[in-house]
Amino acid sequence: TQFSDLGLAAPIQAALDSEGYVTPTPIQAQAIPPLLKGRDLLGIAQTGTGKTAAFALPALHHLSANPKRALPQTCRMLVLAPTRELASQIADSMRAYGKNLKLSVATVFGGVPVGRQIRQMQIGVDILVATPGRLLDLIDQRALSLRAVEIFVLDEADQMLDLGFIHALKRIVPLLPKQRQSLFFSATMPKTIGELADKFLTDPVKVAV
Ligand code: AMP
Repeated sequence: TQFSDLGLAAPIQAALDSEGYVTPTPIQAQAIPPLLKGRDLLGIAQTGTGKTAAFALPALHHLSANPKRALPQTCRMLVLAPTRELASQIADSMRAYGKNLKLSVATVFGGVPVGRQIRQMQIGVDILVATPGRLLDLIDQRALSLRAVEIFVLDEADQMLDLGFIHALKRIVPLLPKQRQSLFFSATMPKTIGELADKFLTDPVKVAV
């Protein structure tokens, strides 16, 4: 398979061409077709396997194929990552793959003043990449609502739990609309992670690389 066989929207394919991506990695080849159909996904994959593009490309395709203005203080796609470094990398990838689309990408994480992030949320964003603690701060301050999330991605779930984010995740997930697409990635799948995944995935496609 090549990317050009996957049916991604032309502006996304053009971005891949300019990045020099020709052949999907195994996780991309396995995950992108079911994700384009709207399926949930459970992915067991480490960093370096191309998992970011595996979730980013079909999400960008969905957002651009269903154009909608993000409502104030909402986002259409929410990506949760355990650290600010990973959140920043994911946001950079979304911007690169989405560079020919008119979609806004914002990042929120702790350790920096919250005021600018609150203002960024006011007009609404298409894609929000966040760490769990700061996301809850924004929700508790009524700067953000999750009621319009169409696609939810939890990245590096095992690291998330190691860093003590389980309580935050359990508060965040019930705030999401029931009608959504959910993706869950972890490098390992011990019992606790499997149970957490079961809580918010519906009939997921399972991909292990
Ligand atoms: P990730 O596992 O998402 O952190 O991606 C690992 C690295 O591989 C990143 O630097 C990507 O830019 C690159 N990459 C991902 N998918 C492809 C691909 N299909 N072809 C070439 N490079 C890729």
